[in-house]
Amino acid sequence: MSKTHLGHTARKRFGQNFLHDDYVIGKIVAAIAPKNEQNLVEIGPGLGALTDPVCEEVDALTVIELDRDLAKRLRHHPFNGNKLTVIEQDAMTMDFGALSKEMPVKDKKLRVFGNLPYNISTPLMFHLFDHAHCIEDMHFMLQKEVVNRLAAGPGSKNYGRLSVMAQYYCHVIPVLNVPPGAFKPPPKVDSAVVKLVPHQAPPVDVESVNTLERVCAQAFNQRRKTIRNSLKDSLSEEEIRELGIDPTSRAEVLSLNDFATIANAVSAKEH
Ligand code: SAM
Repeated sequence: MSKTHLGHTARKRFGQNFLHDDYVIGKIVAAIAPKNEQNLVEIGPGLGALTDPVCEEVDALTVIELDRDLAKRLRHHPFNGNKLTVIEQDAMTMDFGALSKEMPVKDKKLRVFGNLPYNISTPLMFHLFDHAHCIEDMHFMLQKEVVNRLAAGPGSKNYGRLSVMAQYYCHVIPVLNVPPGAFKPPPKVDSAVVKLVPHQAPPVDVESVNTLERVCAQAFNQRRKTIRNSLKDSLSEEEIRELGIDPTSRAEVLSLNDFATIANAVSAKEH
């Protein structure tokens, strides 16, 4: 545990690394470009590194903070307290669909942003993908490795389940790399900011998203195996070949379109 510049002791279990680099903060806020008449939601506001400059631009911001002490501090913020709606909750359990209906600007989707706690970033991304229909866009600081995985295409060593599912739901745009020194305490890893824009309509037709997720998990859990082997409980070698996909290929070379084709064949077989 280490003391930050603002007298709060950073809690490791909440993934607390607080941004203090004004250049990086300025770049992130410029990328978000917050405006009034938008339903802005910040995950993990912490000591307000992004909250405060966003509040300079808008009259209302909803924040979701798990740490009770930080939530209390935000509620009593001398300048921004009246602009903030502070939800003291685990973002992993947040029903973003229900939240979007309670937001001040009616019939507008959420604009979600945050410097996310790295210990939960991948499950949190999947939780947010489940709510992509009520989200206009997302700007997140993540481990650089996670941003690389979100943006990776077939053939890249970073390509995996997270890449396929992220790109099924969203357009993924890396924004900025951020070194450890921009945070207090500095994390052990490099960071990066990414913008995710949910597709209006999915880029591929998928019968069942659950099946797509399951097929990706099976294929990438054994990424060194051929799909003939990793998917053998779902499809035979012949069935894979009939889809126009080489059964001896590995998951890492298959496109989103290939995964959708495989998932739809599995769905058809199961019904
Ligand atoms: N936004 C601040 C900044 O940029 O300096 C803090 C970022 S810090 C990396 C992550 C923040 O998320 C902390 O404030 C932490 O308490 C909060 N947090 C951790 N787990 C959370 C969860 N499950 N739901 C909501 N907030 C969480």
